[in-house]
Amino acid sequence: MLKGKTALVTGSTSGIGLGIAKALAKQGANIVLNGFGDVEGPKAEIAAVAAPGVKVGYHGADMSKASEIADMMAYAAATFGRVDILVNNAGIQHVAKIEDFPIEKWDAIIAINLSSAFHATRLALPAMKAADGGKGWGRIINVASAHGLVGSPEKSAYVAAKHGVVGLTKVTALENATTGVTCNAICPGWVLTPLVQKQVDAKATAQGITNEAATRQLLGEKEPSMQFTTPEELGELAVFFCSPAGNNVRGVAWNMDGGWVAQ
Ligand code: NAD
Repeated sequence: MLKGKTALVTGSTSGIGLGIAKALAKQGANIVLNGFGDVEGPKAEIAAVAAPGVKVGYHGADMSKASEIADMMAYAAATFGRVDILVNNAGIQHVAKIEDFPIEKWDAIIAINLSSAFHATRLALPAMKAADGGKGWGRIINVASAHGLVGSPEKSAYVAAKHGVVGLTKVTALENATTGVTCNAICPGWVLTPLVQKQVDAKATAQGITNEAATRQLLGEKEPSMQFTTPEELGELAVFFCSPAGNNVRGVAWNMDGGWVAQ
């Protein structure tokens, strides 16, 4: 379905971003990976599921830096011609009460989780709007969170950034509503990635309980389903947004959260 298209997924060396990259590669899209850490492992995971002919590139831009984001977008255009699908996914977390929240953590979360989506979007839009003989074709998918829709204590920067991402999603969708470029947000509940494993570990240590008990507690506080959402499930939602059926889905914030925000 996505043969000949190119998808750039930020923060895709791990977790949800990698899951989305794999789902898009399975549909035939070339992939530009981004993120820290091992790159060969994620590339091999993508190659194992990708449709024939899919090419995978990588750019290690630090998403807290506007100039490196510009380098990454230029690399993608030079290597693949154009970014057709932009998935703004890179994100970090820090947990502390507002009065104890380290200023540098606040700045980093706002930069990586929110401002990076603005920078990548502003740089991707001109080529998306010019695609398909000027009619435009593009998909911008912002990975927000259930925390883009509701709050939780001790996550001020994250909740502020994710609510900002949902707002940015709506404005991006509206500004391009008469074109073939859509923008939507995905709002996962708990997904067992390194980002959440750290929170499980912290809970287990703080309360002297097992990892299993901490996991049950974490899910029980928020998710009626008592079940993690998986990167594979989120990848399929991204594929839907990229499908022809997604042509007129504009500005939604779609939660996949085991009932978290239905309560
Ligand atoms: P993860 O820690 O597994 O992956 C984060 C990715 O972002 C990694 O590839 C990492 O290298 C990259 N990254 C971090 N800082 C970066 C930077 N400065 N520049 C470039 N890349 C950077 O986390 P995840 O759980 O897969 O999270 C992905 C996204 O999903 C985040 O935006 C997160 O807020 C969101 N999310 C996660 C959950 C969850 O339960 N895991 C729930 C809702 C939303």
